[in-house]
Amino acid sequence: MKDSDVIVLEEPKLSLTDQFYLPQVLVGLGTTMKHMFNVVVRGKDRVVQYPEEKREGLPVEKGGLLLRTYRGVHRLNKDEEGRVKCVACFMCSTACPASCIHIEAAESPWPDREKYPAKFDIDELRCIYCGMCEEACPVDAIELTHLYDIIGLTRQEMIFDKTKLLEIFDQTVKEEPM
Ligand code: SF4
Ligand code: SF4
Repeated sequence: MKDSDVIVLEEPKLSLTDQFYLPQVLVGLGTTMKHMFNVVVRGKDRVVQYPEEKREGLPVEKGGLLLRTYRGVHRLNKDEEGRVKCVACFMCSTACPASCIHIEAAESPWPDREKYPAKFDIDELRCIYCGMCEEACPVDAIELTHLYDIIGLTRQEMIFDKTKLLEIFDQTVKEEPM
């Protein structure tokens, strides 16, 4: 390396006011006072006791503000007869990089398919919401919805079983048709 390539950095010189730090302290206090005014006087920006209490006008409720590409919690889709569409082929669980889908296949009670999922669990805490399961499914049985505020007070509650995943279908199908 040549000497001319070396860049020598010099410490910036502080002015007299900078050396006292007082202006920056006052700026910080001003920000604190502004937030206090908003909370105490205007009732804005206060802490919300989530999940018991939620802010109004969240993007999902407002509709359309969330990006259409947003990937939230899963649903298991139903067919026109209200049956689970899944045929228990295990493509989604094989594709899942987080190994968070657990399926138990059983003989189908319906003549149009061989198998159906007797058990279908997704660990929503392990999931990384990559969408690979949705991509892998040959019958469009699993989908990620735009629901993002999923709440559970225990780890067990965050393992969504077949019933819950089908309920999410009922809950979201009007807003997010297949
Ligand atoms: S979104 Fe990704 S990590 Fe989550 S269950 Fe599907 S494949 Fe697995
Ligand atoms: S959800 Fe789709 S990919 Fe997963 S087991 Fe069912 S049919 Fe196969």
